[in-house]
Amino acid sequence: MIDLRSDTVTKPTNEMLIAMMNASVGDDVFGEDPTVNRLEEMLAEIFGMEAGIFCPSGTMTNQIAIKVHTQPGQEVICERLSHIYQYEGGGIAFNSGCSVKLIDGNRGRITAEQILDAINPDDIHKPTTALVSLENTGNRGGGSCYDFKDILEIKKVCLDNNIPLHLDGARIFNALVAKNETAKQYGEVFDSISVCLSKGLGAPVGSVLLGSKNFIKKARRIRKVLGGGMRQAGILAAAGIYALENNLKLISKDHANAKRIEQALLKKDFIGEMLPVETNIVIAEVNGRLNPIDLVKLMKGHGIYLMAISTTQIRMVLHLGISDDEVIEIIKIIDGL
Ligand SMILES: *Cc1c(COP(=O)(O)O)cnc(C)c1O
Repeated sequence: MIDLRSDTVTKPTNEMLIAMMNASVGDDVFGEDPTVNRLEEMLAEIFGMEAGIFCPSGTMTNQIAIKVHTQPGQEVICERLSHIYQYEGGGIAFNSGCSVKLIDGNRGRITAEQILDAINPDDIHKPTTALVSLENTGNRGGGSCYDFKDILEIKKVCLDNNIPLHLDGARIFNALVAKNETAKQYGEVFDSISVCLSKGLGAPVGSVLLGSKNFIKKARRIRKVLGGGMRQAGILAAAGIYALENNLKLISKDHANAKRIEQALLKKDFIGEMLPVETNIVIAEVNGRLNPIDLVKLMKGHGIYLMAISTTQIRMVLHLGISDDEVIEIIKIIDGL
């Protein structure tokens, strides 16, 4: 079985498991797990930010960030398809008591102008705009990446209006590789960044939230409230450290393979509009002689799992569990459909 449903399906390799088994651990709620501390420091250093906090999921890192940046009754600006709005169970309302101002972007990307327009005036009728959140790469945007100059323009609007800027960087390393950018550029601009270790990087569990020392101190309080304070979590953090040390270099291979699959799909009569592949995610419209459900079934019959993400679209996600040989096989099967 070749699983292209998500880059979350990766399983730890033997080397990663050995790193996990050998991790020195302590009670992380007491701040005494050396491996968790090292992972937090490593990522903070990579992004040039002051501090980090290890959490069980990217949903938790995003939700903690939103909670720390806002007060109940305030408003968060984000793109309509963003994970924080679509896929976190209504957490913005549930955890933070905030409303959301949705912007229709271009493949998940929003502009400084749209944000400026969405910021509420100082008017007692309106909720106070308290946070802008961006997603890079954009999941439902088909792994789309921002141009960094557009992020700088957004930052200017945020600074002018005294609004913090959060990054849902579940796949930020994919964006850095695709755009040839550095993590430090991002660390300079964002007030908080959520990074997933359990996506393309191949760790089984975990995300890290980055920010200033003061921000992360508040984040620790919220993580405890949400039940995310883990004890000997170094076993999990060791997988994250292993991933950062060994798997970052594998990301570009996923991007190249996603492009090859895109080229194969473009030749098919049942493929409608495709979101041009920028990173490891392939999203295509399926219509005519097949619909998304048909295609998912057909491919499943060949041992290839993909996902119908809407009534018109399918998604395939490349990750380190998919070898070059498997990509050749996938393309052969697509060619024969
Ligand atoms: C996967 C993902 C997350 C976090 O998801 P978890 O499953 O909670 O770790 C956050 N944002 C985006 C864009 C994602 O793709």
